[in-house]
Amino acid sequence: MTDTDKRYSDFVREISRTVSPDRIYTDDLRLLAWGTDAGFYRLVPKVVVRSRNEQEVVAILRLASEMGLPVTFRAAGTSLSGQAVTDSILVVAGKNWESYRILDDKATAIALQPGIIGTRVSEILEPYGRLFTPDPASKKSAMVGGIVVNNASGMKCGVHANSDRVLRSIRIVFADGTVLDTADEASREAFRKSHPDMLGEIMAIHNEIADDKELHDLIINKYSIKNVTGLNLLPFAIFDDPFDMITHSMVGSEGTLAFVSEVTVNTAPVVPFSASAMVYFSDLAEACRAVVALRKAGCVQACELLDKKSLASVHDTTGDGLTALLMTCEADSKEKLDSLTNETLGILKGFKPFIEPHFSLDPEEIAEWWHIRSGVFPAVGGTRALGTTALIEDVAFHIEDLPEATVALAQLLEECGYDDACIYGHALEGNYHFVIAQAFTTQAEVEKYRHLMEEIEKLVVGRFHGSLKAEHGTGRNMAPFVAAEWGDKAFGLMKRIKKAFDPLNILNQGVIFNDDPNCFISNFKPLPLTNPHVDRCIECGFCEVNCVSCGFTLSARQRIVVQREISRLRRDGSDPERLKRLEAGFRYFGNETCAGDGLCSTSCPMGINTADLIHDIREAEMGPSGKKLGKWAAEHLAGVSAGLRLMLGGANMAHAVLGDKGVASVGRTLNKVGLPLWTPSLPVPFNPSHIVAQQQPASEKKVVYFPSCINRTMGRSENQPADLPLPEVFVNLCQRAGYEVIFPDNMKDLCCGMIWESKGMPDIADEKTRQLEAALSVASQAGRYPIVCDQSPCLHRMRDHIKSLELFEPAEFIHDYLAPHLTFTKTDEPVAVHVTCSSRRMGLAGKIVNVAAMCSSNVFVPAEVGCCGFAGDKGFTEPKLNAWALRKLKPQIEKSGAKTGYSNSRTCEIGLSTNSGIPYKSIVYLVYEHTK
Ligand SMILES: Cc1cc2nc3c(=O)[nH]c(=O)nc-3n(C[C@H](O)[C@H](O)[C@H](O)COP(=O)(O)OP(=O)(O)OC[C@H]3O[C@@H](n4cnc5c(N)ncnc54)[C@H](O)[C@@H]3O)c2cc1C
Ligand code: SF4
Ligand code: SF4
Repeated sequence: MTDTDKRYSDFVREISRTVSPDRIYTDDLRLLAWGTDAGFYRLVPKVVVRSRNEQEVVAILRLASEMGLPVTFRAAGTSLSGQAVTDSILVVAGKNWESYRILDDKATAIALQPGIIGTRVSEILEPYGRLFTPDPASKKSAMVGGIVVNNASGMKCGVHANSDRVLRSIRIVFADGTVLDTADEASREAFRKSHPDMLGEIMAIHNEIADDKELHDLIINKYSIKNVTGLNLLPFAIFDDPFDMITHSMVGSEGTLAFVSEVTVNTAPVVPFSASAMVYFSDLAEACRAVVALRKAGCVQACELLDKKSLASVHDTTGDGLTALLMTCEADSKEKLDSLTNETLGILKGFKPFIEPHFSLDPEEIAEWWHIRSGVFPAVGGTRALGTTALIEDVAFHIEDLPEATVALAQLLEECGYDDACIYGHALEGNYHFVIAQAFTTQAEVEKYRHLMEEIEKLVVGRFHGSLKAEHGTGRNMAPFVAAEWGDKAFGLMKRIKKAFDPLNILNQGVIFNDDPNCFISNFKPLPLTNPHVDRCIECGFCEVNCVSCGFTLSARQRIVVQREISRLRRDGSDPERLKRLEAGFRYFGNETCAGDGLCSTSCPMGINTADLIHDIREAEMGPSGKKLGKWAAEHLAGVSAGLRLMLGGANMAHAVLGDKGVASVGRTLNKVGLPLWTPSLPVPFNPSHIVAQQQPASEKKVVYFPSCINRTMGRSENQPADLPLPEVFVNLCQRAGYEVIFPDNMKDLCCGMIWESKGMPDIADEKTRQLEAALSVASQAGRYPIVCDQSPCLHRMRDHIKSLELFEPAEFIHDYLAPHLTFTKTDEPVAVHVTCSSRRMGLAGKIVNVAAMCSSNVFVPAEVGCCGFAGDKGFTEPKLNAWALRKLKPQIEKSGAKTGYSNSRTCEIGLSTNSGIPYKSIVYLVYEHTK
């Protein structure tokens, strides 16, 4: 063991006294997986600690300080500039840090822990008509800690509503373990006593700036536009109280000054009226001149520029070589909005738009325009040469320089050999991104990038006095350029601030301050090809919010990262032992605990479904005996269902003898020895043959009903003796609305094929789907009648594979077909609704909630409960995944007072019942109970 290894192993041993060892990772697989962020640098940590509270962070920092070991913090890991990676200790403060306090009854301020996702803050504030203003494009994934500490911003917040502006106070842990809450006088007083030297140095820096007009003006001028290059000097220029300076210097500090355990921010009112316009120009400079005029008038609240290459990347066919401005006006009344849009149109008249502009209030048209805007980055990422990085740069100019600077930037990119680069972004703030596809595999490519960065510095700083980083942080990427942008005097002050906060330099070493002038072209992340389904992945991490196993084992991004490394090691053979460890670890962390639901694809800018990768891995790993068994089961589905009914019958007999508690306890014991989990929510066996055989009353209105094999085998839950089986309830409901139900022939052998797909047997799965399609086509007279399948994951697969027929989910069918023929009686009773991941992917959430709302005036969809993690049969074999996925459900159910929950997948309902404390059943029951 080397000396370094020994120090880290001592650290782990010591910190395990405070932090539970199951949240400390030192294995290759999790170090690599958790060590990766969205940027293009690769450093692998020696230890990852998933912290749970402030006391743990205090202990970690004290110990690390004592041992001289560097520490880097991590929220969502969506950083782009290399500021969330380390080769030392990574402290993650994400999922365990999600508490908040609304500070007054109008929610004008809110205290937030660092692990809350940006959009979640606005969801929390929505009932109060308030919002969290910092608005990076990544806000659906990025967390408060990362947003504030990177000073991330976006289309609307500019510099007037960014984290610096809205921050009221902060609670931080310094490198020496001292906690300071700047809102609390007792805490400030204690800090005055314990850290007089640090406060003295802060005041000395403040005084130096106050006494130096040139420096003071430079600081004010540089922060008049977006700027995140270096540490934040603004607080030292505008505040007199050292605690205000400490509070605000944390904004943009990128984890180099202290750990943030809570921020208190002012919120802003939601502005209710808005209209957008997409305005095209033939000339880039002319478009920018229009932006300057609009900014001066103050009539638009957002204005995004898309240059000709951006428009080409998203196949906009309005005209050749155009530049577009997508703008939004917002107001608190319709009259005010009309006045703003008229003023804007008046100004635009002076700037030769390519076609007559118009403002739209139509949500569909507006969504289409924003779709174009948000499509640029994925389009470049999706079409880049495989193995290259989709690199987003981020500069800002003073608004009056915009026409000249934008043209110069476009020319420079071409001159540097980046003729495909797209320029787009927040023109109203003078802030552009340019996206390039950059390879780092040869020295020539690295030199090309170095040259580009040096030229960018000359243009942005030397010629236009702009910012080299406007939003994305300095990180390792811009660290060598901070002094050039700010000058030696200001950079010297930044170094003194760093030293005052972190005298031992243990916090995020190498970020913002880095002595290596080549650090921006070192430690590149390899992006080897691994599987065509995921090779386009940019490792942004946007999939993680929806990934059910994220935080339990691996996320979708982490699965891809590990597979890439496995492929690299397989190819170059450089470290067979490490390869073996990664392969062995992936079996459980990557493969067995992937729910295969594909929700990751819904938030992926590239639309990547990591389940496709996992299915391929399962297929490759399936031995001939597994395939044979799968084939046999497919050919003998009726027999397999009968066997399952026998098992359920046995389980229920045991339930009758043992009771709920007995079943739960025996089930947990058996599961520990590897048997499927057996819970009191298990269904009784069911066979629908008698319903199928019944004579259905004839009607002009017909529907084909395909009960999934799950619902043909699993009946009501043992705990709900009064319920009829689902197929019977659905048939009764259809008849109540005057519909004749047709069942496909030979139903006992029919299946959508999903179970084979999820086990890595795509051929068998497709054969089952073909069989089903043929049977449904006959039953529906080639699509003359609508077809309903009662299990949403099955329906999702059917919709993906059967294009010749119109297929419906029950709530959707009720909404579109049955509701007009039914009389609803509404209850006030709270009703919990779970929208399954397949329903979300089919865009059915709205209709399901609408149908529930026809039955109850108190419909409740628990927040932050996505995929339930039951995943067909995983809830039986891997119940911890199910419990992890539903960890936020039970407290919300208890608070809501809901007695029953409704969904549309029988297997998910078993897991939901087990983990919520209330029974879940199909939404068809709810409608049946509340209609005549
Ligand atoms: C596709 C894409 C689009 C993006 N668009 C934008 C955009 O429009 N605008 C923008 O500004 N950014 C954007 N980003 C960059 C990034 O998403 C933001 O900077 C975001 O705020 C980072 O948040 P995070 O939760 O991922 O933080 P992380 O990446 O985990 O961390 C960010 C920094 O904060 C530090 N840190 C984290 N938690 C703490 C803590 N508790 N205490 C102290 N330090 C901490 C980390 O060490 C790191 O230096 C984009 C990124 C991607 C991949
Ligand atoms: S799978 Fe998609 S969302 Fe996830 S990291 Fe890759 S590109 Fe980003
Ligand atoms: S399929 Fe589900 S569990 Fe697997 S990576 Fe995607 S979201 Fe995560």
